[in-house]
Amino acid sequence: MSILVFGHKNPDTDTICSAIAYAELKGKLGKDVKAVRLGEVNEETKFVLNYFKVEKPELIESVSGKEIMLVDHNERTQTADGFEEAKVLELVDHHRISNFNVDEPLYVRMEPVGCTATIILKLFKENNLLPAPTTAGLMLSAIISDTLLFKSPTCTECDVKAGKELAEIAGVNIEEYGLEMLKAGTDLGGKSESELINMDMKIFEVDGSKIGVAQVNTVNEAELLERKEKLLVEINNIIKKEGLKFFIFAITNILSNDSTGIVAGDGNAIIEKAFNEKIDNNLIALKGIVSRKKQIIPPLTKAIQEA
Ligand code: MN
Ligand code: MN
Repeated sequence: MSILVFGHKNPDTDTICSAIAYAELKGKLGKDVKAVRLGEVNEETKFVLNYFKVEKPELIESVSGKEIMLVDHNERTQTADGFEEAKVLELVDHHRISNFNVDEPLYVRMEPVGCTATIILKLFKENNLLPAPTTAGLMLSAIISDTLLFKSPTCTECDVKAGKELAEIAGVNIEEYGLEMLKAGTDLGGKSESELINMDMKIFEVDGSKIGVAQVNTVNEAELLERKEKLLVEINNIIKKEGLKFFIFAITNILSNDSTGIVAGDGNAIIEKAFNEKIDNNLIALKGIVSRKKQIIPPLTKAIQEA
């Protein structure tokens, strides 16, 4: 039976491409590892897989009874169903560590870089290996996606260097390809409110409270804000279903690098304190904020802990 490698629920480009790349690395090292996914791939990832002519990984419902490796996440609220009945062998990630409990020793590689694929390239090189050109293209795409073409505050020197190396192996022009790819991800035409919110939604546990933070990239936030009332209905459904304290839906403009948050639930005082900004009619301006991991979760955590 293959060992399964996968990223988080509501997969993004890094989660899908790093799982594929890690499976390739493990294969080259003689292990039978298969990339799988925990949800539908988004428009940006579809563009990437299509561009490099790579099949999307198989969808899996539960990992119960399997040997598994995690990439691009570690929190229990973001991982596969059946996690408690699986054996975790390895973890490669670039997020905060939280609610991650396992019974046995495991291999862990965590680095505070902009993308899991950056760490995976290092692992290839530590083994005197390089990814195949198409895999390098996927890994480059993951870096472009997670760092918004190297503009996010999460981006490090390592990510820039890895991106350049991968672009060379893949034979693509970073700027040209990167803009085309990011734009493909902002194609939200025809998406329902529920799809928009679930596309990149993560649940976090802070001090015993569960909060939801979803994010969507766009070049035209007005188009989404027009749908605020319907989005709020969906957001309130999720709050109820998942037992969340509050929810923030961050609409991020990838050209201006600012976001607007649609907020709901019982957290206005905390959210206003976290971002030092007033909420008006369920809306909050998030100037200069593009990174959930680095600019949204940490101030929220601090505000919740101090409340
Ligand atoms: Mn991710
Ligand atoms: Mn990532």
